[in-house]
Amino acid sequence: MNKKITIAIDGFSSTGKSTLAKQLANHLGYVFVDTGAMYRAITLFAMQNGYIGAENFDKESLIKSLPAIRLQFRYSPELGLAEMYINDVNVENEIRTIEVSSFVSKIATIAEVRAKLVEQQQEMGKDKGIVMDGRDIGTVVFPDAELKIFMTASATTRAQRRYDELKQKEDAITYEEVLKNVEERDYIDTHRDNSPLVIAEDAIEIDNSHLTREEQFEIVLGLINEVAKTE
Ligand code: C5P
Repeated sequence: MNKKITIAIDGFSSTGKSTLAKQLANHLGYVFVDTGAMYRAITLFAMQNGYIGAENFDKESLIKSLPAIRLQFRYSPELGLAEMYINDVNVENEIRTIEVSSFVSKIATIAEVRAKLVEQQQEMGKDKGIVMDGRDIGTVVFPDAELKIFMTASATTRAQRRYDELKQKEDAITYEEVLKNVEERDYIDTHRDNSPLVIAEDAIEIDNSHLTREEQFEIVLGLINEVAKTE
């Protein structure tokens, strides 16, 4: 396929969206963007500055600070992937903790945060040839994307996958804690007023509870080939 397209991958937490998006981008020679990392970075910034914690949520101060936050993905040749930076500081590991996960959906409800990140995402995708994953990519960021995938899996399957990943780094973590976080984020993400997680009318839904990574990848490649025929 010569003509570059835009591929939007949305879905619930821990459905393996980024894994699939990365595989596709490598295969197609496309840019891969994990927009969850951007919401996580803003959340880390808010935590570091005391704007959000167990007892407090100072939205207004965060909104005022937004112009001073510069987010960048920088490619690491050693790791073979792009890492997230806030104002030139590498935060790739810090943004993946369960603590950041516990606050991120609240931060993602703030209209000003969404506006800033959506603008940056649209800029990154203006030349197409991009695979972007998130919650609102096919509905808000790229409503004209040539291919939209919506990924689902049962909450318990997703929590188990996330738990297996996190326990390598965070000893004290329990499966119950991860399941609770996945369910809470699902709830907030689908119920917020601004850009809630919904399936776009023209998205193709894939439930990967019983699919291997390879099977899922083959299914989506087949869809890309279908799109290519019509482009
Ligand atoms: O994809 P990931 O699970 O890392 O995303 C973390 C959180 O960021 C989500 O639970 C959601 O609250 C928020 N998010 C969003 N819109 C996106 C991507 C992520 O609201 N496009």
